[in-house]
Amino acid sequence: MYRLKIVNGRIFDGEHFTEGDLLIEDGMIAGIGDVSGRKADYTFDAAGDIVSAGLVDMHVHFEGISTDIYGISADAACLPDGVTAAAECGAEKGNKAFSDAMKVKNVIFAITDIRKDKAVLTRTKKVLSAYRDKAVGVKVYYDTGGWDIRSIDPLQEIVGFAKEKGLKTCVHSTHTPVPMVKIVETLSPGDILTHIYHGYEHPVDEDDFAAFRLAKEKGVILDAGHAGEVHTNFALFRKAVERGFLPDTISTDITCLSAYLRGGYYGLPMAMSFYRTLGVPEEMIWKAVTVTPGEVLHQKDWGQLYAGGPADIAVLHRGKRPYALTDAAGNTLKDSFSYFCRLTVMNGQVLFKR
Ligand SMILES: [Zn+2]
Repeated sequence: MYRLKIVNGRIFDGEHFTEGDLLIEDGMIAGIGDVSGRKADYTFDAAGDIVSAGLVDMHVHFEGISTDIYGISADAACLPDGVTAAAECGAEKGNKAFSDAMKVKNVIFAITDIRKDKAVLTRTKKVLSAYRDKAVGVKVYYDTGGWDIRSIDPLQEIVGFAKEKGLKTCVHSTHTPVPMVKIVETLSPGDILTHIYHGYEHPVDEDDFAAFRLAKEKGVILDAGHAGEVHTNFALFRKAVERGFLPDTISTDITCLSAYLRGGYYGLPMAMSFYRTLGVPEEMIWKAVTVTPGEVLHQKDWGQLYAGGPADIAVLHRGKRPYALTDAAGNTLKDSFSYFCRLTVMNGQVLFKR
């Protein structure tokens, strides 16, 4: 039996923060709160840190599953950032054995194709059948930059196909031929709209945030999908956050292109830092990277921290670690402090420590 204690941290229970310790035994959380009477093989001092369930990244692109030019090595990208589970948002290879071998828990959204303003689902069906129950949805690049899209029709076809199969639709929302609100109208509750803070045509603040308001009303999930600064306009982001238009889920859209942007570093703790810089309460930030994505993806234990539950844990610290990102329009978001990961535990095993 292996016992691990994480002591003196601020523990996020999915809603609130409390001071206390965590006892992990045989891969499970054996106690939360005062566990001072219990001996451990290893004790990690989390004084000044936030202890939560392992982080869940709603939007990633993994090597071997996603397209070759984007894919990043899953465990190398996630574990040093406290991410223990993630959703691949553009699976084009039917590589289930490969995805099963990753330490990071994962589900996939299968890629869809659009040609001549029509949905083509041959590749999608192949990928879906390869991943079986690991496939939670389909991904649509509803982007006129890369695809021959002229109307809402192909999106309607894809949403209909996904619904029939009991799957979600996740829509990439940049360079769309229609306003964002029209996309939200087409989606069903539980479907996902990603890159909501992009600054290209049809941004989210069009018609006084009509897309945002409708999504909240309908239960369409708004995912940040920051991609560093690639799919984020920081002026729009700041305006939205200041007016309380916060995403349901904070995600990276991490790829091998965005992770080490201009020689820097980028990952979920940095994306979370964007919100802290703008004064968003930490409860909201942590919820958007733990319980909410777990629930949206229908993965029972993802992002959950409770006695008797699996011990997937992230310990993050906010310290003097500056970042400065500048978007395509020249807006910069920067801070001299940011979050970084100090400890990642999966199934009770320490897989990263700083
Ligand atoms: Zn993406």
